[in-house]
Amino acid sequence: MNTPAYTGRFAPTPSGFLHFGSLVAALASWLDARSAGGRWLVRMEDLDPPREAPGAQAAILHTLERYGLQWDGEVVYQSQRHDAYDEIIDRLFRQGLAYACTCSRKQLEGTQGIYPGWCRNACHPLHDAAIRVRVPELSYHFDDRVQGRFEQHLGREVGDFVIRRRDGLYAYQLAVVLDDAWQGVTDIVRGADLLDSTPRQLYLQELLGLPQPRYLHVPLIVQPDGHKLGKSYRSPPLQPEQATQLLLRALRALGQSTEPGLEQATPSELLHWATPRWDAGTISRSLTLAEADLH
Ligand code: GLU
Ligand code: ZN
Repeated sequence: MNTPAYTGRFAPTPSGFLHFGSLVAALASWLDARSAGGRWLVRMEDLDPPREAPGAQAAILHTLERYGLQWDGEVVYQSQRHDAYDEIIDRLFRQGLAYACTCSRKQLEGTQGIYPGWCRNACHPLHDAAIRVRVPELSYHFDDRVQGRFEQHLGREVGDFVIRRRDGLYAYQLAVVLDDAWQGVTDIVRGADLLDSTPRQLYLQELLGLPQPRYLHVPLIVQPDGHKLGKSYRSPPLQPEQATQLLLRALRALGQSTEPGLEQATPSELLHWATPRWDAGTISRSLTLAEADLH
């Protein structure tokens, strides 16, 4: 089978419901894929059951449907992918590229999130420990389609990072890289809050010999008071009856032009109208809600 030229995806975490910021990211990803004649997949990043909001998985999928953001194929659930993650963790561990870390949270206080490598040569066994991947003293960079060149020194700015927690939960950084490659994703369109995760992901792709997708990080929507619109901040869940109105606002937030009369369209009609007009070149690098909220 031929590999499609474009495969995009939306990868929500069911720790909360979709809000306007997630709609902007989902819409950008959907339009980028559809305007390229590509596939668009949905992957549920349900790696952390204790942090899941009850009902969020079903509500997210229902909202996507009601907003006309139809996906291709079956939804993939990361909770079904643990064997694949373990296989890679075992491999990295055997190759000495990852190691077990038994440092307690208390010991790590004061390290400002950059692990100083204390367990690097301790040879702790794999079980009952966090697993960290060794990072090189190198910078990783990429050219984002909206944000431009982004660079990070993994040794100085990140440190050896966790790929499986001591309690057995898998880290987003590992799962996202394995699943994007497994699903044949060529183009990642997501929120700019993940910009500084990308160099870690590039490093894992390199370690594992996986292809590097293209990246487009859409601007975060910031409230006029400077608060990020996101899970940690109270932004209202998307209501189905506001679909057309919020899709129009999301389009404008993405720098796309709209025209009078579209308020009357159904979500599908609006998306159909917007697809051939999609222009990723007009997306701005940052955005406040006041600019986004143009009605
Ligand atoms: N699951 C992540 C989130 O909801 C997004 C992952 C990604 O797009 O790479 O923030
Ligand atoms: Zn340690």
